[in-house]
Amino acid sequence: MVNFAGMRRYEDSYKQKGLRRQLVDSIRQKGITDENVLTAINNIPRHYFLDTAFEGIAYEDRAFPIGEGQTISQPYTVAYQSQLLELKPFEKVLEIGTGSAYQACVLAELKVNVFTIERQKRLFDLIKQFPFKSKYPTIRFFYGDGYEGLPTYAPFDKVLVTAAAPQIPEKLLQQLKIGGKMVIPVGGQEVQRMLRITKISDTEYDQEMFDNFSFVPMLAGKKS
Ligand code: SAH
Repeated sequence: MVNFAGMRRYEDSYKQKGLRRQLVDSIRQKGITDENVLTAINNIPRHYFLDTAFEGIAYEDRAFPIGEGQTISQPYTVAYQSQLLELKPFEKVLEIGTGSAYQACVLAELKVNVFTIERQKRLFDLIKQFPFKSKYPTIRFFYGDGYEGLPTYAPFDKVLVTAAAPQIPEKLLQQLKIGGKMVIPVGGQEVQRMLRITKISDTEYDQEMFDNFSFVPMLAGKKS
């Protein structure tokens, strides 16, 4: 469990910066070409988002547990989804699955306005105490069920789902602007296909299919 309480010091050493540069190089080699996304990953100390027990391996390209049975996504996956969103500064982006808030901070580094929802109260409460998030005052955090989206703040230019959806949630499609895009892993428990949906009109959508990934499930309802 990540523990933000107490006297934890947030320090970004030369060693950690160096490991992060290597991580960015490895993500580039795996096929990420969007330099803005790579710069965002380079700018964010990922070890801040992890329990101190993982500090030494925070820059390995893999997912880690963040408590409550959830994970911080693999950096390659974060970069992959961020690249597919084709973000432009000041866009309104809805993220489903705040988790550690790492992906939300990557989005904020890309200068978009982030609205992020988490269904687990304990994770939501942890993020409230996370000091690093004050670097990104434009991120808005919500405790709720991502299947409902955020009708009050809709429509969104982009929607990013960071949990495995059994199918595309209808309400999230409704909350997209015409011309807006949703990036979402859709499939079963074990493996999901990354999809990018573009909203052509209120009733027409274009769907593109990308690689397979494995996310934790997108579950209905809030958990207290
Ligand atoms: N974006 C996160 C990845 C978190 S893993 C990060 O960068 O760390 C997926 C997260 O989605 C988990 O925290 C899980 O609790 C959350 N989640 C699953 N179903 C959800 C739903 N219906 N609404 C909101 N969050 C959900």
